[in-house]
Amino acid sequence: MIDNKTVKHSPNQYDVIILGAGASGLLCAFTAARRGRKVLVIEKSNKVGKKILMSGGGRCNFINYFVEADNFISANSHFCKAALTRYSQWDFMAMVEQHGIEFEERKHGQLFCQHSAKDILNMLLDECEQAGVEIRTRCEIDKIKQQQDTRYQLKFSQNNKPQILDCQALVVATGALSVPTLGGSGIGYDIAQQFGLKLIERQAGLVPFMFSDSMKPMCERLSGLALEVEVQCKQQSFKENLLFTHRGMSGPVILQISNYWSPGDEVIINLLPDIDAGQWLLSAKQQQGKSLLKTLLHQKLAKSLVSEIQNLWWPELAETALSEFSDKQLLLIAEHINNWQVKPSASEGYRTAEVTLGGVDTDGISSKTMEAKQQPGLFFIGEVLDVTGHLGGYNFQWAWSSGYSAGLVV
Ligand SMILES: Cc1cc2nc3c(=O)[nH]c(=O)nc-3n(C[C@H](O)[C@H](O)[C@H](O)COP(=O)(O)OP(=O)(O)OC[C@H]3O[C@@H](n4cnc5c(N)ncnc54)[C@H](O)[C@@H]3O)c2cc1C
Repeated sequence: MIDNKTVKHSPNQYDVIILGAGASGLLCAFTAARRGRKVLVIEKSNKVGKKILMSGGGRCNFINYFVEADNFISANSHFCKAALTRYSQWDFMAMVEQHGIEFEERKHGQLFCQHSAKDILNMLLDECEQAGVEIRTRCEIDKIKQQQDTRYQLKFSQNNKPQILDCQALVVATGALSVPTLGGSGIGYDIAQQFGLKLIERQAGLVPFMFSDSMKPMCERLSGLALEVEVQCKQQSFKENLLFTHRGMSGPVILQISNYWSPGDEVIINLLPDIDAGQWLLSAKQQQGKSLLKTLLHQKLAKSLVSEIQNLWWPELAETALSEFSDKQLLLIAEHINNWQVKPSASEGYRTAEVTLGGVDTDGISSKTMEAKQQPGLFFIGEVLDVTGHLGGYNFQWAWSSGYSAGLVV
């Protein structure tokens, strides 16, 4: 914990330097500055908060009404709890309301801006300005050194001009590897390693799947089709929309399950999640025996999809009346419909992933303050840590909660 006594500063001395002007960095910055700390935020990019602006299709899914530790993935599933309690969805919503930002609730308690994600970024920047936070963009970090008196020295260049600054608390809020064009970077992991912290293996998360087998041309043909399915992988399941794309499969349900998928894993898709397809097909055989199977399935699935699965599962029986199918044949097709096993060849990777799984091992970090346990004055917040949220506003919630927790003590 940092001693809060008032210090006289020279121009290149700060109480707090925050690396990264994204979601967690900005929230941490004004929280600390409101406490009277002299705060500087250093940003590599030409603009701040790029991911906020692009989030939620430009409307920013900034929180979720329902937040539980179960909505987060981490090697230590308890780590996120203290921060989520300290700064909850209601705290963030109170600020949103205070700024008069209009928002709307969508499915599963997700809150989005009614107008633009800019509203959220402007709110954070207003708070920073009011609290006296200094923000510098186009900065390239060169070197970080710990001074003997537990201060940190930062060498960097701004617009190619070298500078040296000094601070009491250094906060790493540089995010993670996803979407390099929006500021995704691995510098936070390098800093963690420089100071002896461990890393948990990283992987693209909330990311579409690609296929290399016969599924690839099939997905291409179905590209643009969306339907509600249930998807399962490693004992986890989600029910939401799946979207076929030119590359494979996307949509909220695929992004959600991608957080649990590893290369080589199969994914099980239930095309009719609310129906026992076996019972349905057997009773249809009795009642509509003259129909073709595809005609029956058109009641519940798009024609284009039915034509594709017919080619996969009953090509020889395409023109056979339902009454001619054996029960065994129908039950086998029903099993495919309720448990379609597909094997993605890869995810689309960090280029399109919304988040990065893994990161700085939370074992080395205080869950109350986000300070490195063995490195006083060094803090990690946001996505750089090994805490990843489900789709639905949970990743911003983690950025807000962890940023606030550090902002209270730096
Ligand atoms: C397309 C997209 C849509 C998303 N939509 C949502 C959504 O609707 N809801 C949700 O909850 N989550 C969403 N997310 C995830 C969310 O944006 C992140 O989890 C969140 O922004 C992480 O906050 P952060 O502060 O850790 O990192 P970021 O917000 O990424 O901020 C990190 C900052 O550090 C800067 N930086 C990087 N390297 C350096 C360096 N060397 N020196 C200085 N600065 C550096 C970056 O430029 C960036 O400004 C989305 C992500 C993407 C990519």
